Amino acid sequence: MTNAPTLFERIIARDIPAEIVYEDGDYIVIKDIAPKAPIHLLVIPKKFSARIDDVTDEAEMGRLWLTASRVARQQLGDYRLVINAGKGGGQEVFHTHIHILGGWEGGHSVGFGE
Ligand code: AMP
Repeated sequence: MTNAPTLFERIIARDIPAEIVYEDGDYIVIKDIAPKAPIHLLVIPKKFSARIDDVTDEAEMGRLWLTASRVARQQLGDYRLVINAGKGGGQEVFHTHIHILGGWEGGHSVGFGE
């Protein structure tokens, strides 16, 4: 039995449309469909893992963060990176991803829960 592809695997395969802002052989960065900030991007590794703490390889973890921070710097300058892990942490799509949030006018100083 094969597992059904995740939503993000379907986006990577161009099976579901998305606004792609960056892509290389290992990562895709798309605009979030329901933005929680003026600019809200998702950094998604093409290699499947369900959640961030399933990534055990140091190089993979490093490249994920390097990709996220590089794209965030290029797209936004200043930004916030967020990861939800597990249902209790607010994760809805079980394919590892980093949220890039930013674009607030005049900066942003609200707490983490907002
Ligand atoms: P999380 O709650 O951390 O799993 O984040 C999943 C994110 O995926 C949410 O912010 C959703 O708005 C976003 N999302 C869901 N469906 C799509 C889609 N088709 N295209 C882009 N983003 C999506």
